[in-house]
Amino acid sequence: MAKLTLKNVYKRYKDNKKGEQNDFAVKSLSLECNDGEFIGILGPSGCGKTTTLRMVAGLEDITDGDVYIGETRVNHLHPKDRHIGLAFEDYALYPPLNVYDNIAFNLRAKKVSEDEIHKEIMKIAPLLKVDDLLESRPMSLSGGQKQRVNIARAIVRRPKLLLLDEPLSHLDGKMRQILRTEIKRLHKEIQCTTIIVTHDQLEAMSLTDKIAIMKDGQLQQFGTPLEVYDNPVNEFVAGFIGEPPMNLMTVKIVKRDGGFLFDFPGSDVQIGVPNRYYPAVKEGMMVRLGVRPMDLLIDDENSKGSEVKVAVFENLGEERRISVRVGEEFLTLITTEEIRYKQGDTIKLEVKAEKTHLFDIHTGNRI
Ligand code: ATP
Repeated sequence: MAKLTLKNVYKRYKDNKKGEQNDFAVKSLSLECNDGEFIGILGPSGCGKTTTLRMVAGLEDITDGDVYIGETRVNHLHPKDRHIGLAFEDYALYPPLNVYDNIAFNLRAKKVSEDEIHKEIMKIAPLLKVDDLLESRPMSLSGGQKQRVNIARAIVRRPKLLLLDEPLSHLDGKMRQILRTEIKRLHKEIQCTTIIVTHDQLEAMSLTDKIAIMKDGQLQQFGTPLEVYDNPVNEFVAGFIGEPPMNLMTVKIVKRDGGFLFDFPGSDVQIGVPNRYYPAVKEGMMVRLGVRPMDLLIDDENSKGSEVKVAVFENLGEERRISVRVGEEFLTLITTEEIRYKQGDTIKLEVKAEKTHLFDIHTGNRI
């Protein structure tokens, strides 16, 4: 186990794929992952996740800044001297070797004795449920089994740091879910500081202690899953975390009876601005308002709630998703109530005002 520290790390590829010579793939990235923590690096394609992981692994030069594993600055250390375990999305198992020999491969390269290798494999194989597969060749394994072997190979060396790059992305939905739970259990058992790169927010939310959310090479927010969900620092994080995503729309601040209201353009929907925003808003100001689908409610028919039309109704079994039209925008709401609507029906909409999020219309930063 070891702490991982990134201090002001930059990466510029000489031959950037975008053709922009001066563009940085990673910019000014600082992160601190404590001993034994499970950290997710999350963001859309091309935001610099894999580059970050590869710099930590020593597979990519660092243009500027420092990377520490424990107290050791590892910028110029060879990957094999960093005490890391790596598992990438493609399993890269050696086809002629059986599972046992695949897992043993790196230990043999390090001249570990066969007795020691056997002991280690017998400890690791049951953890990853590959103990029945040790004689099998990679060809005969399913995707999920190959990834288990791949991870077994990464942890058999007892690394200080386990680095996982999209380990579940090749797997189908069900297998992803199973292996996700198993990776979580595995982490609890081996307690190795672990970094996982993923573009799947659900994966990051369910697996990790903290998530680093990146966009265009820059860290947007680093916090626990709950922190980034409840208090996104900007509109990007707000829209990226949560499924279905947070509803985000432009609204106008209007004044009525001495108080402020959010006015939804093109509709007669207005909701009260929570008091906590009063110091930051003024009449006529346009803001970006965020509301999670579960914070939109269907109000009683006789209530004073605003009338909106149902655009799409989906019954997903455990929950119902309803898309309603508000002016030019469509908002999604989720309910577990046993209701049924059809397109064009009118419902009364209530917004949990205290659960709203407010962002600056120009910078996208949280207000
Ligand atoms: P994905 O989820 O698609 O794997 P990512 O977030 O992991 O994306 P990176 O692979 O780190 O993103 O890429 C970050 C940026 O660096 C992208 O603009 C990419 O085109 C560029 N890049 C990555 N590898 C190289 C390379 N070897 N040479 C030049 N540019 C590269």
